[in-house]
Amino acid sequence: MPRHIPRRRFLQAGGAIAVQVAVGDWSGLPMFARPPLDLLLVGGRVVDGTGAPAFAADVGIRDGRIVALEALPGAAARETLEVTGLVVAPGFIDIHAHTDLGIFADNLADSKVRQGVTTEVVGQDGSSVMPVTDEMRARRRESYRERYGVEVDAGDWDEFFAALEARGHLTNFVTMVGSGTIREVVVGEGDRPPTAEELADMVTLVEEALAAGAAGVSSGLEYVPNAFATTEELAALARPAASAGLPYATHMRNEADTVEEALAEALEVSERAETPLQVSHLKAQGQRNWPKAERLLATIERGAAERRVRFDRYPYTAYSTGLSSLFPAWSRDGGTEAFLARLADPGEEARIRAAVEEKIAMMGEWDAIQIVDVGVDGPADAIGRRLGSYAEEKGADPYVVTVEILTASKNRSGIVGHGMSEENTRRTLAHPLCAICSDAGARRSKGPLSEGSPHPRAYGSYPRVLGKYVREERAMSLEEAVRKMSGLPAEILHLADRGTIAIGKAADLAVFDPATVADTATFEAPHSYPVGIPHVIVGGQMAVREGSVTGKLAGTTLQPTRIPGQ
Ligand SMILES: [Zn+2]
Repeated sequence: MPRHIPRRRFLQAGGAIAVQVAVGDWSGLPMFARPPLDLLLVGGRVVDGTGAPAFAADVGIRDGRIVALEALPGAAARETLEVTGLVVAPGFIDIHAHTDLGIFADNLADSKVRQGVTTEVVGQDGSSVMPVTDEMRARRRESYRERYGVEVDAGDWDEFFAALEARGHLTNFVTMVGSGTIREVVVGEGDRPPTAEELADMVTLVEEALAAGAAGVSSGLEYVPNAFATTEELAALARPAASAGLPYATHMRNEADTVEEALAEALEVSERAETPLQVSHLKAQGQRNWPKAERLLATIERGAAERRVRFDRYPYTAYSTGLSSLFPAWSRDGGTEAFLARLADPGEEARIRAAVEEKIAMMGEWDAIQIVDVGVDGPADAIGRRLGSYAEEKGADPYVVTVEILTASKNRSGIVGHGMSEENTRRTLAHPLCAICSDAGARRSKGPLSEGSPHPRAYGSYPRVLGKYVREERAMSLEEAVRKMSGLPAEILHLADRGTIAIGKAADLAVFDPATVADTATFEAPHSYPVGIPHVIVGGQMAVREGSVTGKLAGTTLQPTRIPGQ
């Protein structure tokens, strides 16, 4: 058994094998000979997450597991749900999520579970909660105290998992380890290569994270300090994931003018590290880059012929990130303080302004950028506004207004960038190697996580695929869409116990009406829950019943299933 794994969690990870014996397969026995079920879903059509055609079956659940999958007339159960006309699917696995610390602000944040999401994969874009230095730990504690009035404190992976468990959560969590976080811990926020000794320390931190249960290594190469990593450094940090067959997941160095070069680098990292590759939120931003989308998919297909290459995407033509992303990485060298000092320096303005205006030209116009978050101290009247028209109303230069927002918010401003094509989005989502993600943290329509004007993907990603792209536009079949939301991400992350509906699997289920399921969240009014997803079950417990959140905190921390001999 690898070190650092508490026995309890290790047993969970190996559950698929152990549980077959523990709960037994009762399907061969007559109904009267079987013990009563905890939960029975009657009359639904099962879409099992493998891509196979839907079939009619009742689903019986006991002790958190699926124990019966057939017609079960008259079976005894503690609770029976009548689901005629509805689809019973595996709970969705959000393969690129940002809930990381959000549940400490509000553990009833329900914008994911109400979409049918039962597992969130965090630690994305090179940034994970662990490892942490004393200084980072103190800064995080301060920031959560100041912003949410809650105590968030953990010094290592085991403490973090324990804190998650103590807090309790609606969905399951899986985490990656962020190569940017590791760089910050060992090298700091500056633009310099690690020494040989530092690189060895960084590799050790990756190994410790994987031993603690991380499901892969992530990078976010448009963010500082991860942006300062060379291809070689990334390959060295991804390599420890290879023996477990876990992915290197990357928010690539560029998603616009040099996106093809960035994809070549991502493939090179995975080739050198011998890991599978997961390209995060694949896209080509800016109208002049839209023709590249087809070539990106072709390059990925070629890569996939040689090694395991997959990608993910959310179903919107706008992205969301920090306002600082409009600024070149060199201007952010050294972290927030150094960045804000450079913005305030008149001698630096011309060079920085030219780079920002070039990025705006790529996006088309200042109004392509919408402010969605200004932290605690930024101008609240900017929230939800497009930068161009907001500046015009103030009679000010949009670059100056942008710098003002960044400075006032202490670099905690968020944006939505309207930069992708609808046709590319549809084609990308429908591609067989594409898993569906939200790229968002869980939110809630009231309380501390209801603030700001987030990207609607936090509330609408999964129902939007099922409504708009499956039912209305027929971009893919329902069975294929469900596979992209469950079976495919489970396969990528080695969650052998989840992602498909079969006897012995964990009972994470999403029950929806294929005729009505739809997103309702918009860029103007994002805090709006989807419709047509009446029931969501996490570990055999009702998380959502008749469209209402039960408050049951049934989520657990999941680890990839260890492959014997690895
Ligand atoms: Zn990202």
